[in-house]
Amino acid sequence: MKCKHCGIKIDNPMIFHIHENRCLEDQRANGFIKDNKENDIDYNSMTVEQLKVICKDKGLEGYSNFNKDELIAFMKEKIQL
Ligand SMILES: [Zn+2]
Repeated sequence: MKCKHCGIKIDNPMIFHIHENRCLEDQRANGFIKDNKENDIDYNSMTVEQLKVICKDKGLEGYSNFNKDELIAFMKEKIQL
């Protein structure tokens, strides 16, 4: 299992759980995390080009003629955050 906060790999579920909680506290204390919104990517602040790069990265298709609003809706539907 991989810690979603620091990316470290830990195989023992119990140690993983302890690590993850500590890691979360650490990162919060260091200001890396604001609330629980770190996974909430702000698509609105990106350009159409940046959004299309992400779509390409994710292997999505059929978005080439979309405008920004359509792209955002498309991505929210297709990409599980
Ligand atoms: Zn960690």
